[in-house]
Amino acid sequence: MGQRMIRRQVDEGLELYAEKNYDAAIKKWTISLQKMKDNRLRFSTLGYLAAASRDRGRNKDYLVYAVQQIDIAHEIDDNNLRAQAYLTLSRANEMLADYFKAVSYSRSALQYSAPTESVQGYALLVMADSYIGLCNFNKVLECLDKALCISHEHEDHLMEIHVLSTMGKVFLALKDFPKALAFQRRAHEISLSNAAYAVEENANVSSKFVRLTKLKLATPLRLMGDFDGATKCVEEAMKAASSIGDRPVQAKCLVCIGDIQRSQNNNEVACKKYEAAIPMLQDMNDRYSYTLAMIGLVKALLESDTQKQTAIEILATALSTATSMGNKLMQARCHLLNERILSSDNRLEEARQVKEAAERLYQEADLLCPICQKAMGMQSDHIQILTCTHIFHQRCIKDLLQKWTHQAQACPKCNKNVLFSRSYIALACT
Ligand SMILES: [Zn+2]
Ligand SMILES: [Zn+2]
Repeated sequence: MGQRMIRRQVDEGLELYAEKNYDAAIKKWTISLQKMKDNRLRFSTLGYLAAASRDRGRNKDYLVYAVQQIDIAHEIDDNNLRAQAYLTLSRANEMLADYFKAVSYSRSALQYSAPTESVQGYALLVMADSYIGLCNFNKVLECLDKALCISHEHEDHLMEIHVLSTMGKVFLALKDFPKALAFQRRAHEISLSNAAYAVEENANVSSKFVRLTKLKLATPLRLMGDFDGATKCVEEAMKAASSIGDRPVQAKCLVCIGDIQRSQNNNEVACKKYEAAIPMLQDMNDRYSYTLAMIGLVKALLESDTQKQTAIEILATALSTATSMGNKLMQARCHLLNERILSSDNRLEEARQVKEAAERLYQEADLLCPICQKAMGMQSDHIQILTCTHIFHQRCIKDLLQKWTHQAQACPKCNKNVLFSRSYIALACT
């Protein structure tokens, strides 16, 4: 087959993909790769295949394509391609919850790209998401701050949406639900207006952001007690995801519906939803969502008198997955669930020990408020992030903040001049 024919096949794949004919597109690209000689065309075709695999939840394939891209970038010795390939490789590792590798590859992407390129912003986002996985929130905030700045410079709305949504995730982890909701609302609003103006070639990506940000509204709404609002969001996201076979979002929606049902004491329905989601997430190697689903299932099972043994077994798997990911907050949550089980069995000494283990994890995650030294994120609370990215209880920093209105002041933790330190993230949604 001539190289011109091969190029045409790649383009046909793109057309099929735009028409949502995903499997046919993947087949075209895979066949065209077999006889492709042009390394640059190979690189971009692997990029299409990587993105398609990611959309279908085939995260291991996504990783394999990224590795092949790295080889080509080295072979033709092109730093732009290196940066792009490392970015894909870092995202693949982040999605597989291999967070240390993801951080290291996103550093390589930063290193090989020029400071003005948008790859920088996306690499910082992968880094931020990975640090969320590792519960290192100060690092998350530093990365988001820089990424938000780049998104404004480039007027890149998708990057901005991603920043705001990750910021919502930070507040969710810290259990400040109103702030989590505010950031997710903002992310969703921008994704809607972005989709309204999207040109045809970006329509797929824009609509993906719309359903993702819609889904992300559901959890803070549920935790604030608005079950109807949460259900509406998740149903809309599910409908959009099902219509085009977006398995990653479908699986996450199932977990979310499980959570909403559990919060309303419909534990049997909740268990069925989690049980449907778990094999899907396992198949996608999405260990983060998989662990969340197992934690939800354990909580639902514990409400029934007969399911305790099953709950204990699933909890053990959840804890070992959380530990293998290095996610301290999920480990702590597993310990706290275990404490509940042990206390109900009157095994008080063991219960005390696992509670201590949980508290140690909060301490290790640097989630003690610098003023009162109590853990943040253990229960619902108002949290304040200063422009230096340090985190406090709202009530602990409130008096200081009021005094600061007219004069520059130093952060109690790092002594940086808070009013004048440049931070976008602290100002993004206030
Ligand atoms: Zn405090
Ligand atoms: Zn500070």
